[in-house]
Formats: sequence, C-alpha cells, structure tokens
Amino acid sequence: MVKKSSMAVAKRFKGFFCIQPTLDYRDVHMLYREPGILTGYRPARKSFVYYIASIFQLHNETVNIWTHSVACFIFLYKLHHILQSSNFDTDCEALPLVGFSVCVIISTFLSALTHTFLSKSPLCHYMCLLMDYAGVGIYGLGKCILFFNISSPPDVFRNMNWIYLPYNVVLSWVVMCGCCIAKLFYRRPYPFKRKFFQLGSGGLHALLGGIPMALRFVYCFVDDDCEIASLNHHVLWMITMIVSLFFFSSNLPEKKFPGKFDYFGQGHSIFHVIISYTILLQYRAAYIDMENGDGTRWKCHPVRAVTLFISILVYCIGCVVIIFILRKYVTKRIESDEKQQH
Ligand SMILES: [Zn+2]
Repeated sequence: MVKKSSMAVAKRFKGFFCIQPTLDYRDVHMLYREPGILTGYRPARKSFVYYIASIFQLHNETVNIWTHSVACFIFLYKLHHILQSSNFDTDCEALPLVGFSVCVIISTFLSALTHTFLSKSPLCHYMCLLMDYAGVGIYGLGKCILFFNISSPPDVFRNMNWIYLPYNVVLSWVVMCGCCIAKLFYRRPYPFKRKFFQLGSGGLHALLGGIPMALRFVYCFVDDDCEIASLNHHVLWMITMIVSLFFFSSNLPEKKFPGKFDYFGQGHSIFHVIISYTILLQYRAAYIDMENGDGTRWKCHPVRAVTLFISILVYCIGCVVIIFILRKYVTKRIESDEKQQH
C-alpha cells in the first residue's frame, strides 16, 4: 500500500519536472501580460509544486528567476566568507559588510520568489509583488549601512550617526510604499505621474541616503592631498545603476520588437543582470575604501551588531504591517481587474 502511494507521488513529481506547455498572451488573464511578451506564459491556478518545478523549465520568467537566484547565491558565498575570515572584535568593517550582504540576500531572494509565483493567482501576483517591493527597500537600507559606516567622512559620521539608521529605515519604507502605490493604484497605459511614485521614491532614497558619501567626495575635491582609491568603482556603480533603471522602466527591447524577446533578453532580465553587477561594484567599492581609505584622516566607523540587527528587524516588521494595511486595496484591485477582463 505504502509502496503504491509513494509510486503515485513519484509519478506526480516526475510529471512536474517534464517540459510543461506554456501559453500565448491571449490565453492568460490581462493581469499577467507584459508589453511585448507574446508567448511563454505559465498557466495560472496550478499547485505551488508546479511553480517550484517551473524554475527548471523554460518560460518567460525563467531568466528573471535565475538572474536574481545567482546574485543571491553569490552574496550567500560572500557572507560565508566574511563570517569565516573576519575577527568581529577588531575588524570594524566586517559588520557593515555583513549587514549589506544580508540585505542583498533578502532582496534577491524575494525577487526570485516573486518571479516564481507571480503567475499562480491574482492574490499571489499582488502579494508577491508587494514582498518584492519590500526587497527593493531593504536593498537600499543595506547600501546605506555599507557606505555610511565604511565610506563616509569622520565628522559627517559623528554628526549623523544618532539619526542615520532610523532615517534610512523610514526612507526604505517610503521606497516600498512608492512602488506599492504605483502597482496598486495605476493600470496600463500608465500615466507619467506613476513614475513619480515608482522611480521618485527610489531616487529620493538614493539622494537623501547618499548625502554622507556625496559630502566625502566634496571634501576630497577641495583637498589637494586627498585621493579616493575607490573613485572609479563609485562612479561606475552610479552609471550602471542609471542604466539598469532605464531597462527597468522602459520595457525595452521587447516593446519595440514584440515576440522577439519572450524567453531571453527582456528588459527586466537585463535590469536584473545590471543591478546585480551594480551591487557587486558597490561591495567592491566599499572593500577598496576599507583597505585604502583616502589617506591618514580616514578610518572605518564602528557599528554595533545589535543596532544593525534592530534596524533590519524594525524595517521588516514595518513591511509586514504595510502589506497588512494594503491587503484591502489588493482585494479591491483584484475585483476591478476582474471587471475589466469581462
Ligand atoms: Zn524582477
């Protein structure tokens, strides 16, 4: 009897790992359609096992799942390396690197999870995307933790240290809320003001969160003896960040060539690759700052593990509360999507 039922389970799983047929855009709900993507859609209303198995099959989300999964694995390896090779009593830079790596791992994991399950049902689609936006916010928080503690000038650190982390937790919530509003309260064709919420909130975080680092460049610029060894890396990650945002917001190249990039080369996949490279550049820039500084005046600023842990925890609890508050808007949006479909 046991043998029979285990064989039935094995048979079922074997079925999931076979190549599953995908659908044309006309056969899926409007909610799941992406501009310029004509084929390769997974069917909705399947089991969770089906979507997990789909990670290993070819459809129009496969590359999106894997690009951020690879970034997640790279940062798991980096975290393991820091934990193994650092002395946390003496290496002041180890904790910011750990904080940044943890934030990137959470962010890329949530992104891969979102792309895996967003075709399952309308509720799953919206809830996954809200979690993905929480991931966007936590990446911003991690970046600020990294650069504030490793790359900011000493007097800026002294004056802003008491407020910088709470201020960044709030800015990260603003990023998440901006993305959630852009998704829940606007529909295609999107008006321009949607960009204000989607990109404006992220831009606000980048600008306000980046003040300490910007001041470092200003100080160095007016000081003849100052040299920043990581300057190339800092400039490069800013450029790649802008390029990645272009692909994130434009749906290019598939919008110009519908059906040609259904599986490989979608703008969103390019965004994933470039933003992952940007994150690696940021890590490298901080590493160079840690090794070189900008002369005798620079040194890493100590941070307490408990402070980092509480900041990340408070941010995550806040995200759960925001998602809980937004649930009723998700329900309303799903109802209005249904009306539009019929
Ligand atoms: Zn994505």
